[in-house]
Amino acid sequence: MSDTWKPCSTCKKPLAWGARYYKCSVTTCNSGRFQLVFCSVSCWDAHNPAMSHRSGTWAVEAFAPKSAGPTGTPEADRRVVRPGGSAPPAPEEVLIIASRLKEFVHAEAQFNTSADVMEALSTIVRDATRDAIARARTEGRRTVMARDFRR
Ligand SMILES: [Zn+2]
Ligand SMILES: [Zn+2]
Repeated sequence: MSDTWKPCSTCKKPLAWGARYYKCSVTTCNSGRFQLVFCSVSCWDAHNPAMSHRSGTWAVEAFAPKSAGPTGTPEADRRVVRPGGSAPPAPEEVLIIASRLKEFVHAEAQFNTSADVMEALSTIVRDATRDAIARARTEGRRTVMARDFRR
């Protein structure tokens, strides 16, 4: 019997029998021919863009079977919330709907829009939203409102 149960789906590092590993909370990553296993949360994190997961997924801590023989009762899976509770701190995700923005630019000027515009605008939206959150917080609200965006 080899020492390796399965390789990590991201970095290919071998996972030993009985080792702790992480799997994805998304069903399609755990069924069918490709059952994805990860050696660490960061390796799990790395597959999210590739699988175009939305937020709301998480890594599940699990243990590899002790051996290739008949498995005993598997240890209960433990849900591992992403570091920080729900999402990693300040995820740099694109917040702009590319198709809508391209339509708008085209309608305004018949210009094309390059892909990196979505990132640039997302940064602006993110910064403005952080300011608005701060403003709502100083007023003791937990709801960000349109007026928080008035500069
Ligand atoms: Zn790995
Ligand atoms: Zn997944």
